Amino acid sequence: MTARKLDGTALAKTLRAEAAAEVEKIIAAGGRRPGLDVVLVGENSASAVYVASKDRACEEAGFRSAIHREPAGMSTRDLLALVEKLNANPEVDGILVQLPLPEQVDADQVLEAIDPAKDVDGFHAINAGALAQGRPRLVPCTPAGIIELLRREEIPMVGARAVVMGRSLIVGRPMALLLIGEHATVTVVHSRTRDLPEVCREADILVAAIGRPAMVTDRFVKPGATVIDVGIHRVTDPDQARDYFGAESRRFARMSENGSTLVGDVHPRLVAPVAGALTPVPGGVGPLTVAMLLKNTLAAYRARCSQGAVS
Ligand code: NDP
Repeated sequence: MTARKLDGTALAKTLRAEAAAEVEKIIAAGGRRPGLDVVLVGENSASAVYVASKDRACEEAGFRSAIHREPAGMSTRDLLALVEKLNANPEVDGILVQLPLPEQVDADQVLEAIDPAKDVDGFHAINAGALAQGRPRLVPCTPAGIIELLRREEIPMVGARAVVMGRSLIVGRPMALLLIGEHATVTVVHSRTRDLPEVCREADILVAAIGRPAMVTDRFVKPGATVIDVGIHRVTDPDQARDYFGAESRRFARMSENGSTLVGDVHPRLVAPVAGALTPVPGGVGPLTVAMLLKNTLAAYRARCSQGAVS
């Protein structure tokens, strides 16, 4: 058996088209354009790439989009002042402060300063608390995208055994809470879990978000399980690439030409023959994260409009 590919790129395209159609309707009805403001502090090159792709996705969907590029040495106080300004601006529906922030900035204080109604990353304690209480408002984009993928691919979640690998605030925890909301029976595993492969092998749905390249092998996967690979790691060692993809694979050939490729937390060559369905890396979870950011910005826009905050 070879796992069915769960195509995140295709679903992201659909989600982005849905967002664009909604913006068009809003504008046709004489409404204001939804707006997302992204704050980028410093020169982290991966962050710059993420921010550029978010900006492009916003523009393609017809959103107003602004990037605030701030110097690497920015103080917590100055960043808080910028967040306050964006909180007060009625044209701003979503605020996203790109992580990681430079060391001198108190990231927790900054994230907590964002108006929860504009917190499109869903990291504010008010939004995290609402999710924990089973009343989700703005939900972190990566796990929200995974739920959307499972739903639209008709992977049964009600009553399913789900194992979430990782307990971070960005992925693991909200993922577990969302799966509970879908009536799955959820186990969360982490670096202190005993008998990790055995616990994972109980899963009908296995979500790997541990930040460890290709650690999840066939030993972790029940035959036929749905495996969601959240990890993203660059591979430059040809021996590793041969192990992950197979010497005969197109991926290995392309890696030899380009000098690098990507792998997730799941070992693709070992897991694909065992799993029933698997997200590829790239082209699985990654594109969904950006698409869900548009959905969250629209949700924030709608909620703010209905509360009379803006029109
Ligand atoms: P974190 O480093 O914040 O969390 C990792 C989690 O995995 C922790 O809970 C940790 O346990 C657990 N863990 C680490 N090592 C092991 C191990 N050997 N066995 C079991 N559990 C382990 O990572 P994130 O949640 O932020 O991200 C996870 C991965 O997802 C990364 O590769 C990241 O790049 C990727 N990512 C991808 C996104 C996308 O859009 N595709 C978006 C966000 C992240 P403990 O708590 O005990 O330390």
